[in-house]
Formats: sequence, C-alpha cells, structure tokens
Amino acid sequence: MKTFPDKHGHFGEFGGQFVPETLMSCLADLKKAFATLRKQKAFQQELAHYLNDYAGRPTKLYFAERLSQKFKNLKIYLKREDLLHTGAHKINNTLGQILLAKHMGKTRIIAETGAGQHGVATATVSALFGLKCQIYMGQQDMERQALNVFRMQLLGATVVPVTSGSQTLKDAMNEAIRDWVTNVRDTFYIIGSVAGPHPYPLIVREFQSIIGREARMQFLLKEKKLPDYLVACVGGGSNAMGLFHAFYQDHRVQMIGVEAAGRGVNTDHHSATLSSGSIGVLHGSKSELLQTKDGQIRIAHSIAAGLDYPGVGPEHAYYKKIGRARYESVTDQEALSGLKLLSETEGIIPALESSHAIFYLTKMNRQVKKKSSVIVCLSGRGDKDMHTVREKLLK
Ligand SMILES: *Cc1c(COP(=O)(O)O)cnc(C)c1O
Repeated sequence: MKTFPDKHGHFGEFGGQFVPETLMSCLADLKKAFATLRKQKAFQQELAHYLNDYAGRPTKLYFAERLSQKFKNLKIYLKREDLLHTGAHKINNTLGQILLAKHMGKTRIIAETGAGQHGVATATVSALFGLKCQIYMGQQDMERQALNVFRMQLLGATVVPVTSGSQTLKDAMNEAIRDWVTNVRDTFYIIGSVAGPHPYPLIVREFQSIIGREARMQFLLKEKKLPDYLVACVGGGSNAMGLFHAFYQDHRVQMIGVEAAGRGVNTDHHSATLSSGSIGVLHGSKSELLQTKDGQIRIAHSIAAGLDYPGVGPEHAYYKKIGRARYESVTDQEALSGLKLLSETEGIIPALESSHAIFYLTKMNRQVKKKSSVIVCLSGRGDKDMHTVREKLLK
C-alpha cells in the first residue's frame, strides 16, 4: 500500500515545502535527523520516559456511560488527553520535537503562538530541557491572552510581540520563519500542529499518533472489535490526526473531524477551513485555507482559541478529498452546550475546543441508524476557558 506523505512531503496535491530557498537545507537536515532518530531504540525509550513519567501517559479510554444514555444510538468512549500534564494533547508533540532538537545539538527553541497554548507547551518543555526559548506572538493576541503570556514568562521563555500586519497568528508565523532563516545553526523551530512545510506534518503526526495507537488497543481490549466512529475537533488538526492515523487502514472505521463554525459558516467569523475554504499556501505548505478572493488570509474566529487557525494540516485536506474522513462544523453556541453537557453528565469539564467534538455527538445521534460505538478525543480540559465560559453563560 502507498503511504503518505510521499518523499517530497505531498499528500496528493497538498503539503510540500513553500519556504525561502535558505530553509530548504534545514528542512532536509530535519527530515534526515527525524528519519534516523525515530528508528533508534534509545530515542524511543527516552521519549516514552518523558511521555509516561512526565506527561502522564498512557491516558485512559473511558466509557462515558451517563453521556451515552443521553443518546439512543451511541456508545461513547472518551480518550482522556485532558488528563495530561499542562491539560491537553499538545505536550505529546512538544516533548517529541524538543528531543529531536536536543539530539540535533540545537540550543535555542523558537515557536509562534496564537492564543498561547502552543507557546505554553513549548515553554514548558524548554524549561524541562533547560533550553533558551523565544515565542513569537501577535501584539493583539498578547493583550487578549495576557495570562498565557505570563505563564510563558514564568516558565522562563521570552515572548516577542509582533506588530506587523494584523498583529495575530499569521504575522507571528512569518516572524518565526524569519528568525529561523537567520539563526538556523543553533535554533530549532517547534511547530504546533500537523501543518507547516514537510517534514513537520509527518513529524507532528508521528508524535501525536500515540493517541490513536493507545485508543485502538484499549478499545479492542474492552470491546473485542473496532469502533464504528472516531470524532475529534480540528484546528490545525493534530489531535484529530493523532487519533485517526492508527485507524487509517481500518476501512470500516469512519472518521469525523469537527471544525469551528464560530458565529456561523456563512458569516465572516468562523474557522471552518475544510467546510468553506479554498486551496492556497500558508505556513509553508499547500492546503485548504480561509482567504479572500485575492489570496489574503482571512482572520479566523472561534470561541475556542485553539481552533482559530485560518488553515488546516494538508493531510486533512487530503483525507477530505479522498473521502477517508468527513468534516463537519459546530458553532460557538453549540460548543458551549457541549461543554455543559459533558460537565453535567460525567463531571468532566472539557476544553472549549473539545466541546465542539462533544456537541457533534448530538447531531450524529440523529444520523446513525443502528447502535454505534464512538471514540471521542477529549483533547483538553476546560480550566483555561472558565473565564470565557462564565462570561458567555452569565450573559
Ligand atoms: C490547540 C488545541 C486544539 C487544536 O489543535 P489541533 O492541532 O487541531 O489538535 C484542540 N484542543 C485543545 C485542547 C487544544 O489546546
């Protein structure tokens, strides 16, 4: 069977490397180092040590009995990534990439962040490994997410305000790439989702695919069969791809990615890239994205800060194209009711991102014909969102 990406990093027509000439050799070095290290037993053992003893893997696959009772047609299992150190799946990837950095002899870490969650996950592992860390963040985002800026600083990172353009994520991405071009000898660039130029989508998929490998084994052990459905929220797409990848060849397992419809996919305020985007280049790779007719990146919106990314990983664009997964969307309001639903039925307050996947179950319940089993990726916990949720629900 053909595997993806191909050696140039293409998933069908998506992916690739759209970067300044000077970065091509860095990407080649990274690709080579990754290919070598991933095969080394010592590297895998070191990674497993940090994932298990530091981050708290393996995470539980929990049968949500009371939530399932709400739905006539669904038997729901939750993959509890919310129980990891720092409260979300992002740590799986930042731990993996910082180990790559260490073995490549890099001494300085850079990243960009929108809402600050990837920034915090990167600052966390930089502290853990004692590496210098610089995070690029749009000036506007810094004001909106002051608490995450403070967290990163507390963890010893320097947060650099980006004042160009719209002063948000895409401008921070440009600055991080510019930094990397200049300082590539000692600097490792940690990308936070299955996006960016090849080999990043492959690297991030590999580090997140532990989610699906564990979930597949855990489900088989409990149910003696495979699940009918996988459901996960999609921002850049790393928790979803992390869950999906291990099931790619299980053709009867259906995959559903849930994007953020914000105030509605027909408004200018959403992040439903696969539901309403078009093909273009962002962040060094070709995928679907939200753009204006003349190719300007549109500002994405979601109540869930981690979903408001105007692009999506190229492998998801490919999955959609070949029909391996389908992509649906859930609005801000619906996500809030998803959050309430899980809180009240299971005593688990999910992140607003994950609440999109939870709410989607109510739509799915109406569509499936016979009793079906589902694994939902609970990508993060809701503590970080209490301020937002309180404001919205009290209104
Ligand atoms: C960042 C984040 C997401 C979105 O990122 P993906 O790459 O799409 O997984 C989802 N859930 C939580 C809790 C996050 O922090």
